[in-house]
Amino acid sequence: MERYFWHMSPRQADGMACVVCGADFLTGKITSVSVGRSPADESQVYACKDPCAAVIAREAERMAREMRAAAGIDAVDVAEVADGEDAVFSVDGHFGSLLRDLRSLAGAEALLATTDDVPTVRFLLGLTARHAEAAMIRARLVLARTRED
Ligand SMILES: [Zn+2]
Repeated sequence: MERYFWHMSPRQADGMACVVCGADFLTGKITSVSVGRSPADESQVYACKDPCAAVIAREAERMAREMRAAAGIDAVDVAEVADGEDAVFSVDGHFGSLLRDLRSLAGAEALLATTDDVPTVRFLLGLTARHAEAAMIRARLVLARTRED
């Protein structure tokens, strides 16, 4: 997991305590899962498998929903991009998808300009990379199919 956690105690940053509730993994019989990294040294940090990891997952899902809403991307569009191309074969289909990718990039640009939270910036950069790549592929497809021989 590449998410960073901030404002941790030394034991949390060393991976010996839960980053959510602070429970000590060495003294308690707690199952822990890796949930991200310490920004200081990139080492892995952990949370209680139950319930703290679920709290982090819900938080991440809420953040992702807010980002998609703000960027005007619906979940289907993200899934389609993530699965690669070839979902749409007609020129109109690719052109419509290209316009959506460009809108998403404009949305990401607007959010990046106003955000300095590292996890959010990293999420937006991932979004930017996927949509920029998809836009490049779709633009080339449309160019190839509209070439005048
Ligand atoms: Zn915990």
